[in-house]
Order: sequence, then C-alpha cells, then structure tokens
Amino acid sequence: MLALVKTGPGPGLELTDVPVPKPGINDVLIRVHKTGICGTDLHIESWDAWAADAIHPPLVIGHEFVGEIVEVGGNVADFSPGDLVSGEGHVVCGLCRHCLAGRRHLCAHTIGLGVGRDGAFAEYVSLPMTNVWHHWAGIAEEVAAIFDPFGNAVHTALAFPVLGEDVLVSGAGPIGLMATAVARHAGARHVVVCDPNPFRRDLAVQMGANRVIDPAVESLTDCFAELGMVEGYDVALEMSGSPIALRNAIAAMAHGGGIAILGIPTQEISLDVNAIVFKMLTLRGIYGREMYETWYKMTVMLQSGLDITPAITHRFGFREFEAAFAAARAGESGKVIMDWQA
Ligand code: NAD
Ligand code: ZN
Repeated sequence: MLALVKTGPGPGLELTDVPVPKPGINDVLIRVHKTGICGTDLHIESWDAWAADAIHPPLVIGHEFVGEIVEVGGNVADFSPGDLVSGEGHVVCGLCRHCLAGRRHLCAHTIGLGVGRDGAFAEYVSLPMTNVWHHWAGIAEEVAAIFDPFGNAVHTALAFPVLGEDVLVSGAGPIGLMATAVARHAGARHVVVCDPNPFRRDLAVQMGANRVIDPAVESLTDCFAELGMVEGYDVALEMSGSPIALRNAIAAMAHGGGIAILGIPTQEISLDVNAIVFKMLTLRGIYGREMYETWYKMTVMLQSGLDITPAITHRFGFREFEAAFAAARAGESGKVIMDWQA
C-alpha cells in the first residue's frame, strides 16, 4: 500500500510502498478514505526539536481519519466489514488504575497513532477495536475525518458549563474554530474569539463568534461595554499555546471563571498566581478526548444541528501531500483534508 512515511531523522516525508498492516485478533483493518492534517504532522514533517525527541523512524504518520472496515480480528464481534469508522488516536494501556476505572483519557501510558505507532496517512490502518468509533450512515466523510481534533474542541469547550456564559476563545486555528461553534451550539451568550490572523478571524465569525479581536490592536476587555459584559469572561478556552494569550485571558476573567487549556506552549509560562487566587479561577489542562463521552457528544451535537464544515478550507488528493502540508502550514487555512481514494 502507499503511505506517507518519515523514513529517517530529518525534514520531509516520502510517499512510498509499505506492507499493509496485519490486524491482530483484537484489531480491525480499515481502508482509509479521508484524513486531516494536524499540527503534530507538521512538526513531524519539519523535524523540529519535539519530533527529533519523540519520533522513531521509520513511521507512517497521521492520526485524523475516516475509513471503512475491511477485515476484523478473531475476537472482534461488534464491528464488521463495510462499517464507516474513525479512530481514537490515543491507544491506551487498558491496565492502569485510570483505564480500569473507565477514565481512559487519563492513562499515563498512551501511545499516539502516527506518533508512537504506524498511523493513518496510508491506504490502510490497523487499530484495536477499543479505539474505533462507528459513524452513523450519512455523515459527511470530511467531517468524520476530523473527529479527532473536533473531539479536542468539544472536550475543551465543554470542560466548564457554557450555557448563558461569556466565552473567550484564544486562538482560531482549526480547533479554536470548531470550539467556537461548539460553545455557540451549547448556549453561550457571547463567544469572543481572539487571533492575530485576519483570515482566521473571518472564519471565526462564520463559526458563530459574535465578536473577534485582533490582539495587536485591541485588548480582551475593550469589547465589554459593547457586549454588556461587566466582570469579565466566565469561561476561556486557551487554544493558541501563546504565553501572552494565557496571561491576557487570566487578566480578563470574571471571578470564579474557568480556563480550559488545550494549547501546547513551547516554553514555560510565568503566570499571575495572585489573579488566579483572588479571582478563584479554575485552570484545567485538556489532552485528547474522553473515551467515549466526547465522541458521543460530538455525534449528538452534529445530529442536532452543529455545523463545523466552515472550518474545512482545503481539500487535496493524497499524492498532492506537499501542497496539502504547505496549505496547512500557511496561515490562510483552517482544516486541510487529504483524500486517500483520489
Ligand atoms: P494552530 O497552531 O493552527 O492555531 C493556533 C492559533 O493561535 C493560530 O491561528 C495563531 O494565529 C493563534 N495565536 C497565536 N498567538 C496568539 C495570541 N497571542 N492570541 C490569540 N491567538 C494567537 O493550532 P490548532 O491545530 O488549532 O491547535 C490549537 C492548539 O492546541 C495548538 O497549540 C496545538 O498544539 C494544541 N493541541 C493540543 C492538543 C491536546 O490534546 N492538548 C491536541 C491538538 C492540538
Ligand atoms: Zn492505562
């Protein structure tokens, strides 16, 4: 089969022939239809310091996908060939305290699809049956392809109750964009989105933001009078990884507010702990998705009218992977999809 492979240490990827994975007795083999490009894939492609430390080539990369089951292992009874599925990209140990208690997102021994084991930028991918999510018939495949980052958005956006609350989204990358739509769907009063990138601020409006902020021009509090906000944001979703964005969010929070932090900073961040204490803020780190409560919520929100399609801006065939990666790296994009049947 053809796959996008990091063949050795250093920048670049190769579209090359590798053997079709052989599913074990608890696994399913999936014919990949569509994939989404994540920031993680860009780090692996460019071979930055994180990638050089975390990735052991040769490796088939990629973890955001939708596809059709073509083969099931001998122990698999709940999935059948023909099922349209996506994969949860965190393969957990199943044996630790949290896994045994059903809190699998807290497993400390998680292995990442396309990071610690061969991934989904390939014509076929094999996964344990416990990592497979069955879609309903009729779902748009490009939406199903991005359930992994959509799940990051949902997990973060629902970390604190948003019904009737004023929500700040820091960072309008693909995940911040989807979180904007989720917060709106879940009944937030105001969803204010901050991003220095004008293309993404425009997308944020399409996703349901009722106010966008360019941090180079305005502070997070400048819109309070216009929106009738008195004390500050009730909930903030940190989706930029930027130190200044997190500090600004803390400064603009209302007393008792909650900040869900998904963005991954590349450096340590010093914070105004006095503000956290005296405002009695809750800061909560978010990693991945809850298995499978987040997946359930994603499904039912889409079925009840949530639309994340404006966040998808580019589509390529897998042979055009270089153009696809360039689009994902450029600022003028949301989610970039590669079609593995094209
Ligand atoms: P992205 O890099 O495409 O988006 C980040 C956005 O933040 C960009 O649009 C950028 O312009 C904006 N930004 C930069 N500085 C800012 C500032 N000062 N204020 C406001 N916005 C600013 O990333 P993404 O794919 O949407 O992912 C969002 C974040 O979540 C990234 O940091 C990513 O590494 C992280 N992530 C975390 C998990 C997890 O499980 N915790 C999973 C996936 C991604
Ligand atoms: Zn575990």
